[in-house]
Amino acid sequence: MVDYLIVGQGLAGSCLAWQLLQRGKRVQVLDVPGNNRSSMIAAGLFNPITGKLMSRTWLAETLFQSLFDFYPQVEQNLNQKFFYPMPLYRPFLSVQEQNEWMGYSAQPENQKFIDHIHTTSVYGDQAHDAFGGLVIKQCGYVDVPVFLQSIRTLLVQQNAFAEDWFDETQLQHTPTEISYKHWKASAIIFCTGTSKTNLWKAAPVKPLKGETLTIKLNEKPKLIYNRGVYIVPGKENLYKVGATYETQNLSEVITEAARFELATRTSELLMLPFEIVDQNWGMRPTSPDRRPMLGHHPNSKNVIIFNGLGTKGVSLAPYFSAQLANWLTGSAEILPTVNINRFKALYSKS
Ligand SMILES: Cc1cc2nc3c(=O)[nH]c(=O)nc-3n(C[C@H](O)[C@H](O)[C@H](O)COP(=O)(O)OP(=O)(O)OC[C@H]3O[C@@H](n4cnc5c(N)ncnc54)[C@H](O)[C@@H]3O)c2cc1C
Repeated sequence: MVDYLIVGQGLAGSCLAWQLLQRGKRVQVLDVPGNNRSSMIAAGLFNPITGKLMSRTWLAETLFQSLFDFYPQVEQNLNQKFFYPMPLYRPFLSVQEQNEWMGYSAQPENQKFIDHIHTTSVYGDQAHDAFGGLVIKQCGYVDVPVFLQSIRTLLVQQNAFAEDWFDETQLQHTPTEISYKHWKASAIIFCTGTSKTNLWKAAPVKPLKGETLTIKLNEKPKLIYNRGVYIVPGKENLYKVGATYETQNLSEVITEAARFELATRTSELLMLPFEIVDQNWGMRPTSPDRRPMLGHHPNSKNVIIFNGLGTKGVSLAPYFSAQLANWLTGSAEILPTVNINRFKALYSKS
């Protein structure tokens, strides 16, 4: 008997398993790692100023404090390396944009994240930045496959991981006990990303397809360049370029259109010659209001969900896995804006 049966070991399931173990809880995690189509595809970028409008991300101070504590703590405990803080550079396209950023940077809430505003080209040997650009602090990337593998190795050592594709027909649950195959637990937590389950069929998780390129560069970029696409370091001289955002065509294949879009944007951003060596696709688990979904099922208090990490799993998962673990262990409430019960109108219709 364990305390929690966790289904899914992407960013959500991995962070949550870690948080629960830290609180002295026993977990059993189920997944078939080769089936992951989100966390394993992610470039792993974290950046507090995002979006087309380049605004401070929701809860930026809280989330970034949490992630800067969380990943190094896991690294240290497991003696692994997957957290790479690094400044990010966004070239300006006009003098008007320079001036706008001068204004934003004077606002105290933005100062924490803005390192420097350049009004002339500084990285012109590597990127198109005739009008200078913005250097953003508290950015970087997590090597997500290494992070997931590190957590999985820990779970395997504790006999707490099984390669099993969860089959709902074999689940039995009462208000106090979960029984699935030979496992028994007090509660079950679904961290299944875009995979649909019957129990959670009314949870509005919508797939948002994304494609990335892997490119080879002969010269190392001085920081993370980001305009139209991001260029995030990978192994040796390989870099991840991403990403596309596709809500309509959710075909589970790479496309020529995405390759063209990403390659064009890379040429517009980089001065450096590049060679495309790979292309990949994935599905982000998004929610209608772009906030995560945490909490229990409307009909069963021991059937829990942690989902909806959308485009920002790396920065959302540390803080909200801690919040969920604290709620499960009775020491915190779930923020109303992320509580799954905000969608209860959908359940009453199903
Ligand atoms: C192209 C692309 C680029 C991205 N880039 C970034 C980025 O740079 N920065 C960032 O923060 N975010 C990025 N994201 C988003 C990020 O990947 C997601 O927010 C995050 O991965 C979601 O994690 P998750 O654990 O909820 O879902 P997933 O990673 O999908 O994990 C769900 C897990 O559940 C398992 N599972 C599902 N059903 C079952 C079942 N029945 N039985 C057993 N196991 C099951 C799956 O195998 C999977 O491992 C990107 C996403 C994509 C697609």
